[in-house]
Amino acid sequence: MPMSFSILADVFEKLERTTSRTQMILYLVELFKKTPPDVIDKVVYLLQGKLWPDWKGLPELGVGEKMLIKAASIALHVPESTIEALAKRLGDIGRAIEKIKAEKARGRPVGLLAFMKTSAGAGGLTVERVYETLARIAMATGEGSRDIKLKLLAGLLAEASPKEAKYIARFVEGRLRLGVGDATIMEALAVVYGGSAAKKSIVERAYNLRADLGMIAKILATQGIDALKNIEPEVGIPIRPMLAERHNDPVEMLKKVGGRALVEYKYDGERAQIHYKDGRVWIYSRRLENITHMYPDVVEMVKEKLKAREAIVEGEIVAINPETGELRPFQELMHRRRKKDILQAMKEYPVAVFLFDMLYHDGEDLTVKPLPVRRKHLLESVEKTDRWRIAEGIITDSPEVLEKFFLKAIEDGAEGVMVKAIHERSIYQAGARGWLWIKYKRDYKSEMIDTVDLVVIGAFYGKGRRAGKFGALLMAAYDPDTDTFKSVCKVGSGFTDEELDRLNEILKPYIRRTKPPRVDSQLKPDVWVEPALVAEIIGAELTLSPIHTCCYGWAKPGVGISIRFPRFIRWRPDKGPEDATTTKELFEMYKRQLKKVKEA
Ligand code: ATP
Repeated sequence: MPMSFSILADVFEKLERTTSRTQMILYLVELFKKTPPDVIDKVVYLLQGKLWPDWKGLPELGVGEKMLIKAASIALHVPESTIEALAKRLGDIGRAIEKIKAEKARGRPVGLLAFMKTSAGAGGLTVERVYETLARIAMATGEGSRDIKLKLLAGLLAEASPKEAKYIARFVEGRLRLGVGDATIMEALAVVYGGSAAKKSIVERAYNLRADLGMIAKILATQGIDALKNIEPEVGIPIRPMLAERHNDPVEMLKKVGGRALVEYKYDGERAQIHYKDGRVWIYSRRLENITHMYPDVVEMVKEKLKAREAIVEGEIVAINPETGELRPFQELMHRRRKKDILQAMKEYPVAVFLFDMLYHDGEDLTVKPLPVRRKHLLESVEKTDRWRIAEGIITDSPEVLEKFFLKAIEDGAEGVMVKAIHERSIYQAGARGWLWIKYKRDYKSEMIDTVDLVVIGAFYGKGRRAGKFGALLMAAYDPDTDTFKSVCKVGSGFTDEELDRLNEILKPYIRRTKPPRVDSQLKPDVWVEPALVAEIIGAELTLSPIHTCCYGWAKPGVGISIRFPRFIRWRPDKGPEDATTTKELFEMYKRQLKKVKEA
């Protein structure tokens, strides 16, 4: 049964107007109840502001501001300059289109009533038609594609009601800004198809094993919640990665993992989840982007040296000096992301792969198996070479041995070690950060605290030499419980002149005039920034702060946690905003720091 797009546009509007998560869930529940099972996947993708999961590596819409205005001009029969001027005044092309459309509809003579009916969205556009058209726009590539895109978009905007046109325009621009995260969508799905929010964990587990929320929603809607309980990984669909907690005391770390541990080098490179089936290779990054094209050399290694029919393995891709085998810094690897000529980059920045896990092997789901079993499968399936290796590791229950191994790891160019549980319950916790894996990094050894990864939520203009340009950023931690970004500090040092000069360009697509949804900050920056960019920050110590909202009231009433003398270290383009350091992690760091000070 077709679903009217106006239902979706109405929900978009309601979502946009609330900041209450409970209310958002109610709206989504209402929406999903009205959604026929055969389009639920499309509805979920559109809510996520995308047409398909990013990892599919399918083309993006490829419609710029100019083309959007041109399409609207054709659809609305008004000059481009009129739309441009209004969009400038309203700060939003979507609203400009909506306004012009609404005025035009009002001004129409009565004889055109039939046209007005459809243009008011009374059953005109369907979700299917909007989705299919947007997909065709994205898929149009190569010669003549501009005209095809333009025609399709103009047609869509002409058919849409004013409100529908507004959201189509915003979607196309990548500015839907509904403020709903995956967690919120999953909770609503659990309510509708599982009967209660308590079933969210089943939905989450399935999503962790197959990172495609549209597909998960479709299975739920067509086969029911029981079908999700038995879901297994599928080669080609990325698994959300297992993550580690952090600590810096070997005695405590060993206690946390149950006494004995596999202690492995923590390589400083790029995490790679490698899928293999019948001669085909997919490589996914930590953020589940398809990065296969960046590593043709790794693809060859997999084809030649992975002894399995089908498999999912994980490892770290590290830049190396091919002459000495020495590990090279992470930054060198990032050249591969920037270089257009991959074959050239491959020569200039050779890599090695250090494998550390196996999640799927010839039809067997290994995520539910303890680490020693997974490792056995890994060792059996890997034919080692200089560039295709198993992560360096030892098994120990001795804090002294652990500490020594840590120092050796550092000496060898690793970032520290991973301390991993090897008991019976040491399963692969997809998508979760837990104490089965603990990272022990070199930074703990310095006088400073460990680095944290924070999200930009605002920016301040500089003074003096930097007047008129951005000089500092407002940074936030992620709070998964409320799905919000809470302010931690304002950082203005550590940038090179070049980095400062580039700030404007980097921030531009994300600058907002009003506080974006999901941002929680009392401090008001000169401009707000949509949470998207992650930076690594270090400071002298964690302090209590009456200004910042991170961990507000947790340590003491009326104060949050902040960083003293924060310094920018580098951008983390490999991390999404939800991968930033969480408020809970910061609080744990604060407590450990307090303990250390007391002991001293
Ligand atoms: P960080 O910010 O410290 O790089 P992260 O937030 O990306 O970490 P964590 O779970 O905190 O992710 O740390 C684990 C990361 O360390 C993995 O994502 C992986 O990229 C890397 N790593 C390097 N060596 C190993 C190893 N032997 N086992 C597991 N992960 C490893």
